[in-house]
Amino acid sequence: MYRLISQLYPICRSITGDGLRQTLRILQTHIPLEMREVPTGTQVFDWTVPKEWNIRDAYVKNSKGERVIDFGESNLHVVNYSIPVQRRISLSELKEHLFAIPERPDWIPYRTSYYKETWGFCLSQRQLEALAEDEYEINIDSTLKDGHLTYGEYFLPGETPNEVLISCHACHPSLCNDNLSGIALGVWLAKHLRGLPRHCSYRFLFIPGTIGAITWLALNEEKLPRIKHGLVLSGVGDAGKLHYKKSRQGSEEIDRTAAHVLKHSGNPYELLEFSPYGYDERQYCSPGINLAVGRLSRTPHGTFPEYHTSADNLEFVYPDKLGESFAVCLKILFVLENNGAFVNVSPKCEPQLGKRGLYRMIGGQSDAGVNEMAMLWVLNLSDGSHSLLDIAERSGIRFESIHKAANALQEHHLLREKFEFVPTAAG
Ligand code: ZN
Repeated sequence: MYRLISQLYPICRSITGDGLRQTLRILQTHIPLEMREVPTGTQVFDWTVPKEWNIRDAYVKNSKGERVIDFGESNLHVVNYSIPVQRRISLSELKEHLFAIPERPDWIPYRTSYYKETWGFCLSQRQLEALAEDEYEINIDSTLKDGHLTYGEYFLPGETPNEVLISCHACHPSLCNDNLSGIALGVWLAKHLRGLPRHCSYRFLFIPGTIGAITWLALNEEKLPRIKHGLVLSGVGDAGKLHYKKSRQGSEEIDRTAAHVLKHSGNPYELLEFSPYGYDERQYCSPGINLAVGRLSRTPHGTFPEYHTSADNLEFVYPDKLGESFAVCLKILFVLENNGAFVNVSPKCEPQLGKRGLYRMIGGQSDAGVNEMAMLWVLNLSDGSHSLLDIAERSGIRFESIHKAANALQEHHLLREKFEFVPTAAG
């Protein structure tokens, strides 16, 4: 995942254009995702697919011909979606188009102007302070014209049509935690799930933030009833603890699953209530869409100083943190895959476990082998109205142990699957 982030880092992405396409083509070397192109001007709910933006070069030169701001050094130097400009201006006029962060004098901010046609440069406060009175040559070699909005979609069918949506934004230029970490995690989950038997079907979206989610939702409304759970992945590589942001409903299976997995992860974590802000959960959880989609992040966006600056770089994300985020996602998906309801076929008093070899099957550790308490809980609550996740929550025993106990009891004909399972509230 870290290597993929390193490979994608130099590319100048935006909500449309060749940087986004190049990114998706690199992802295609890992998973056979489909690239979709939606023409400029397409109406998507209350929005319109914008003009396509591409950039080749940009600079500010002083009168000596030196590039004092150079897109070639960092693509953050240009306000993303800047219109083409070529002219000579004074320092004071130039300053109206410059953005820096006085409190972080070495960092370049990340700025965009998608829906207002303007131009600008971003630079460090030190660079800004070093600009002398002079005549400057401005050149932004960009194009903003009718074209397409591009996104990547990878559908991985399972035994059932019930879908898990995994969505990440792919529209930021050289920013690692904010966009590249989520992309890398999404790709690795897809690669991993491809090789496993699956109950659920999976739909991976690599889309430009906001407009990409709106576009996909507007063009795929007929698919929405099949999406049973979803996760927005973003900011999953920094050193902070994991945060799960609940869906709009707040008590969906994905919400309870993420809470359960994080509680048993052994690492610090935090649960966040839903709010109509953030990443594309805003669109998935808008009232007319209302999908059971939560968000997994480490340190939430906007709450760390490196956010949307050049300091969100390759040193800000860590392979082991990406690995931990990956492991937690796999555990969440394991619960979603295996959360069934069962019926105890011998419910009058406890069945005699000893004569079936189930009693004292415990290994050395409390969670190794089949956990005896887990078997007792599964037998007690398997009345058809409790799912395995209900039992895991009520017993305080991790889902894997409950699942393993249910399998052992099923093998010994003490439990049968209840097929028409209607999820119930917790407890
Ligand atoms: Zn961002």
